[in-house]
Amino acid sequence: MPAPRIEIELDKLAHNARTLTALYGSKGICVTAITKGVCGSPRIARALLDSGIRSFGDSRIANIQKMREVGLDAQFMLIRSPMPTEVKRVVEFVDVSLNTEISVIRLLASEAVKRDKIQQIILMIELGDLREGVLPSDVEPMVAEVIGLQGVKLIGIGTNLACFGGVRPTEANMQALSAIVGNLQRKFGINFEVVSGGNSANYQWFVSTPDIGIVNHLRIGEAILLGCDTVTRERIPGLYMDAFTLVAEVVELKTKPSQPYGEIAQDAFGRVPVFEGKGNMERAILALGRQDVDGSAIKPRIKADILGASSDYLILDVSGLGLKVGAEVQFDVGYSALLRVMTSPYVEKVYLPLSQLTARGSSSC
Ligand SMILES: *Cc1c(COP(=O)(O)O)cnc(C)c1O
Repeated sequence: MPAPRIEIELDKLAHNARTLTALYGSKGICVTAITKGVCGSPRIARALLDSGIRSFGDSRIANIQKMREVGLDAQFMLIRSPMPTEVKRVVEFVDVSLNTEISVIRLLASEAVKRDKIQQIILMIELGDLREGVLPSDVEPMVAEVIGLQGVKLIGIGTNLACFGGVRPTEANMQALSAIVGNLQRKFGINFEVVSGGNSANYQWFVSTPDIGIVNHLRIGEAILLGCDTVTRERIPGLYMDAFTLVAEVVELKTKPSQPYGEIAQDAFGRVPVFEGKGNMERAILALGRQDVDGSAIKPRIKADILGASSDYLILDVSGLGLKVGAEVQFDVGYSALLRVMTSPYVEKVYLPLSQLTARGSSSC
């Protein structure tokens, strides 16, 4: 098989999606599967659809377009605040967009009117993580304007935490969200279809809270793909963390010193590297580099240490492991590694098919 490659076990992803939709569904929370970590892979989306997912979200319209083109019967959500210059494509390809700027919503509205469509909108509220979101003090006038606009329908309110500022979802900020939404509903005499409480980081909050408030929706990416609670990066019980296996090939294997020799200046990336002296070691060089992966977010499945990476090589200490040139090394991938691996055209994507045994999921969302 070609290397480097990422092997993708669709059965494990389907299992993760089924488990999470059942867990969150037990308290009336619907799940939108977020596919940006896998570039909107239609094969993966199909497997998730077969396991009960009915809504997909991605940050890129190109990814949504790819999923639509294979005819997936689902709702598509654009989760990145749209660029004014992509408004036409939003209206063409996206069912629901997450929005934070009234000027962009106005553009969406007039484009939708032109096409005789209704663009669905979720307004995102800032609750401390300091990425996208309308400040709570500004949300009322914004809602007032949006519900008066032709061409758009305000279907919900959402928030996003634990992405930029590392602020985790808690009892306090989730209750704040419910309270803000409750006030808006009373004030404007409307009922929002969607109260979107967050992402994979909402797991601990969900399993520990006595009351989920009026939150009824989550946007889940990493927990489906990598099986973890993103606040701690620990496994969510019952999920697979190894649905993805990165495989790379050894192209050089030699015993060399553990420290560079000569006058030390900058490396290829402008840093002055420092290496611990451990005497001679068996060093394997793999044909896998920073163009393919974030080398700091992968973990070899053998007892090897990653020494570093340049654009095209990954260097490992493989002392005592008996590797040979041409041997393959397998790695677990973290989220930033997965993102780059799936984006790199140099990494072959190998899908291990969904087994016939996998029952078709069902979902009420
Ligand atoms: C990426 C993203 C998500 C999904 O986050 P995960 O941690 O992968 O679950 C949800 N919502 C928004 C707005 C995002 O950008």
